[in-house]
Formats: sequence, C-alpha cells, structure tokens
Amino acid sequence: MRVGIIGGGVGGLGAAYELAKGGHHVDLYERAPFLGGLASTFNVGGGRLERFYHHLFLSDHTIIGLLQELGLGDRLIWKESTVGFYYRGRIYPFSTPMDLLRFTPVGLVDRVRMGLVTLYLQRVKNWQKFEGVNAASFMRKWMGRRNYDVVWGPLLHGKFTVYKDEIGMPWLWSKFATRVSSRDRSFREKLGYIQGSWGVLVDELERRIHELGGQTHTSATVTRILVEDGRVRGLALQGADGSQSQKAFDLVIATIPSFTLPRLVDLPQDYLARLQAVEYEGAIAVIWVLKRQLSPIYWLNISDPDIPFLLVLEQTNLVPPKEYGGKHIVYTANYVPREDRRWGMDARAIVAEYLPHLKKINSEFDESWIEEYYLHKEPAAQPIMKVNYLQRMPATRTPVAGLWLASMSQVYPEDRGTNYSLRLGMEVARQAVAEAKGQGAAQ
Ligand SMILES: Cc1cc2nc3c(=O)[nH]c(=O)nc-3n(C[C@H](O)[C@H](O)[C@H](O)COP(=O)(O)OP(=O)(O)OC[C@H]3O[C@@H](n4cnc5c(N)ncnc54)[C@H](O)[C@@H]3O)c2cc1C
Repeated sequence: MRVGIIGGGVGGLGAAYELAKGGHHVDLYERAPFLGGLASTFNVGGGRLERFYHHLFLSDHTIIGLLQELGLGDRLIWKESTVGFYYRGRIYPFSTPMDLLRFTPVGLVDRVRMGLVTLYLQRVKNWQKFEGVNAASFMRKWMGRRNYDVVWGPLLHGKFTVYKDEIGMPWLWSKFATRVSSRDRSFREKLGYIQGSWGVLVDELERRIHELGGQTHTSATVTRILVEDGRVRGLALQGADGSQSQKAFDLVIATIPSFTLPRLVDLPQDYLARLQAVEYEGAIAVIWVLKRQLSPIYWLNISDPDIPFLLVLEQTNLVPPKEYGGKHIVYTANYVPREDRRWGMDARAIVAEYLPHLKKINSEFDESWIEEYYLHKEPAAQPIMKVNYLQRMPATRTPVAGLWLASMSQVYPEDRGTNYSLRLGMEVARQAVAEAKGQGAAQ
C-alpha cells in the first residue's frame, strides 16, 4: 500500500516506521528543514538539545520499548528528579510527600488535606468518572481555597493560561497518575532522558525507515490533500524552492495540529466543527547557556505574578554539563495564548524582560554568566482539554475514506508527550492499513 504521512514529528515518524516495517511504501513530508517537530533538537556546546525541554516517565512504555527495539536501550538514563516551588521569594522543595508536609506557605491542616487528596487521586483508576468535572472547581472544593490559591491555581494557570477555569478533571487526574507511576519504592520520582538527546531517536527512526524502503522529505510542505469521490487519492506538495508537485497515495495519515487539517481538505460540517472546537495554545522558551549553575533544582514551578515566566527548567541538573561542553543549560518557559504580546517580540526583547528575574532564583546570578541565549516559539504546543473533552475529541478516522488524523489533540486523558504521540501514530498506522485491507477484501 502507498501511504503518505504529513508531519515529521515523533507521531509521523512512528507511523512511518510501523508502516515501513509492514512492507508498505511510505513517504513522510515535513515542512521544516529538520525532523522531530516539537521534540526536534539543535546544537549547543557540541551537544544536541531539544528546542523545548523533554524528559520521560517510567510509565512511558511505548517509547521505552521502541528505544530497546532500535538498540538504543542503553541510551536511556534515569535520574531522581528535583522539583521546586518558588513562592514569595523562596524556593521550596516539592518532590516527595515529606516535602509537601514541610511546605509552609499553607497551614498544616491544608498540607494534610493536600496530601490526602493527592493520595486519593493517585489511587483512582476509573478516570472516566471525572468526565464532566471541572478541575479548578474540584481542586478548590477538595484541596481547599488556600491550597488552590497558592499551588494548584498557579499551576493550572501556568499550563493553561486563560483557559485554566475550563479544564476537565481527567487531564489533571492523569498528571497525578503519571507522576506516581514514575516513583520508585522510596517515593522518589525518576525522570528519563535519552543520552545524546531526542535527536538520537529521531535519527535512528529516519535511518530505519530508509533502510526499509521508505522515504522522508524535509522542507516539503503538504499544500492539499487530493480527494476524488470521497476517497483520498494523493497529496499536493511544495518544496523549499516553491516547486509544486503531486504524488498518488492509497492512504494518508496527518499528524499535524487538528485545527490545521481543514486548510488542506474540505470536510463535512460535523467533523469540521469538532476540529475547530479544539483550541491550542503556544509555548515560548528562552534557553540560557550559562557559565554556572543557576539552582540545584531541575523543575522549578514559579508561583509569582511578577515573574514573567512560569517554569525554570535546569537541563544540566538532569543531564551533566559535560554533554554541552561544560555549559549549564536553563530553559525559562511559558505557555501562551494566541493573543500574547510576546509573539511579536524578538529574542533580545524577551531576554531583556526576563533577565532581571533570574536574580530572584539565585541572588548571585549575574549577566556575565550568560554565554548565549536562544528563543523558540511554537504556536500549536498544547491542546486545551476542556470539561467533557471525550465528547469533543475528533475521531482518528476522518469522513474522507483513506484519510486519518493522529494529532496531539487525540491524546487523552494523558498530557500530550512523545510517548503518546508515538503510540497514537503507530496505532493509527496499523488501523488504517487493516481497514483498507478489509475494504479491499470486501470489494
Ligand atoms: C514546551 C513543551 C514541553 C514538552 N515536554 C515534553 C516532555 O518532557 N516529554 C515528552 O515526552 N513530551 C514533551 N512534549 C510534548 C511532545 O513534544 C509532543 O507530544 C510530541 O513531540 C508531538 O509529536 P507530534 O508528531 O504529534 O506533533 P509535532 O511534533 O507537532 O509534529 C507535527 C509536524 O507536522 C509538521 N507539519 C505541519 N503542517 C505541515 C504541512 N502542511 N506539511 C508538512 N509538515 C507539516 C510540523 O512542522 C511538525 O514538525 C513537550 C512539548 C512542548 C511544547
């Protein structure tokens, strides 16, 4: 079968690899000059680094299994995570149940309450019972007002900005479930990283796809999905030099943000409405390449409206600085809605705004520590999982025969991640082929 794949992120690569293994003719098209999508990398200090920070949880079985299958199992490193919470000028450790009990910004009764609700959420298996439940209301009611105002409200705001009061509880439940499943027996959280970066996985997938007879095309934008009599016939393409071409396919799998699919193909009203109903927000990350360590914490949540970023992630507290020529790497990151003023700001302007606040994380910090900085912006970084999302989620089988969608907005209730994009891409690839074969047999 001839299969065209739109998008060269982890989802598209997973689908292409699965199909190539099954003996199908695969062509994957990626509009960027590189593969990897949101998990793509660039060079820093002689090493490779993700444009947006990435780690794995112990529960990320699909990607862990794939790394082993590809002979990259020994590249996976696991390290105890260090999580912190910045509140009113102080950094509190926020990794273990004991840290929660010692978290003085809320009173003892509230801390015990937070511990009990956390324990409850970590034990719930049947997340479906939370469909229809609003996460902010649930947390206010059960964790209490103080815990919500200090911890959970700012965390929800950090992740979902203007949408924070609309998020469904299943999404938040999944965060508790994932994090508990990434703890060892001593309740310490372990986080994983692919030594050499996600680029190692992306390169190996590309190599295997080629070895199996498939092709990957970068700087190749799909401009139209060609349809005849309600069935996919192929793709219209544009190269980096503006050249136009077409290629015939029996099946097409789109791994692009769901709201962008209608730009490529006409769709019936009800499916179109579903795609358009799922909103996304963007992500902005400044990467600071420093001479010295900023803090000993890997993941530092910021709960302070005066600080313009919501997360400080010190990569070199998970991966040793020697991987980046001895430099210390720090991301300051935000999720941002479309109307955020920072979309119009360049790296220099954003850095000038963020810089004074790094001193709040470490009072010794000085501008002379900065060797380089980079800015990465991505408008479609996070689908918004509102209340009753299950009813809103677009189906992977589109109404156009032979056209399938495998996008981040179809990962639920788990928070989107490379593990789930990979799993979805592979599953959709298998299903698309099985159905096409079934239809062929029935004709
Ligand atoms: C800030 C941030 C932090 C994250 N942290 C983690 C983490 O710690 N761990 C983790 O596992 N995951 C993390 N993720 C999530 C992870 O990066 C994504 O879930 C995953 O990479 C998505 O893969 P995808 O293939 O579904 O989509 P994408 O990576 O978005 O790939 C889609 C691709 O389609 C291409 N495309 C779009 N339109 C066209 C077109 N018309 N023609 C050709 N190509 C097109 C795009 O250029 C893109 O490369 C993070 C994401 C962000 C933004």
